[in-house]
Amino acid sequence: YTPTVAVVGRPNVGKSTLVNRILGRREAVVEDVPGVTRDRVAYDAAWAGRSFTLLDTGGWDPEAKGMAARITAQAEVGVAAADVVMFVVDSTVGATDTDEAVAKLLRRSGKPVILVANKVDGPSGEADAAALWNLALGEPYAVSALHGRGSGDLLDAVVAAL
Ligand code: GDP
Ligand code: MG
Repeated sequence: YTPTVAVVGRPNVGKSTLVNRILGRREAVVEDVPGVTRDRVAYDAAWAGRSFTLLDTGGWDPEAKGMAARITAQAEVGVAAADVVMFVVDSTVGATDTDEAVAKLLRRSGKPVILVANKVDGPSGEADAAALWNLALGEPYAVSALHGRGSGDLLDAVVAAL
């Protein structure tokens, strides 16, 4: 049995960039235009000798009507398929109403959730990451998916939750 780690979150928070960081190669589709990733894309990943399936999610049009509902629905699909959920938030934006809704859904799911405070590209971003304690999902892991900052500690936490 290979466990599944689902990566969920709003468009443009850096889910696909994080997936690429974990895979160590550019494979997941990253675009400045949000919403490019197809519904669900699965990749074989490993860290510290543990193999897992990494599920990148997305695929909605962020301009579409009912975007928040689509995001939470997508998160639900990801959660149902997952043993562990990585919930990615853009720390430079902070927790939006949609993030709050997803957090609520995740708390109720009973699944282990790793909260990713993304786009912490330098030390000055740590305070933004700490603000995400408010989502009541435990420790926010401050990372820069783009530059790799913090990704080792994040992956240690993911593997520990498997
Ligand atoms: P997704 O829609 O959640 O899959 O987001 P993407 O991975 O496609 O990234 C959306 C945008 O955010 C792209 O322009 C990325 O280069 C940028 N991005 C992702 N991670 C980081 C990060 O850690 N720091 C910064 N500064 N930008 C990032
Ligand atoms: Mg994507």
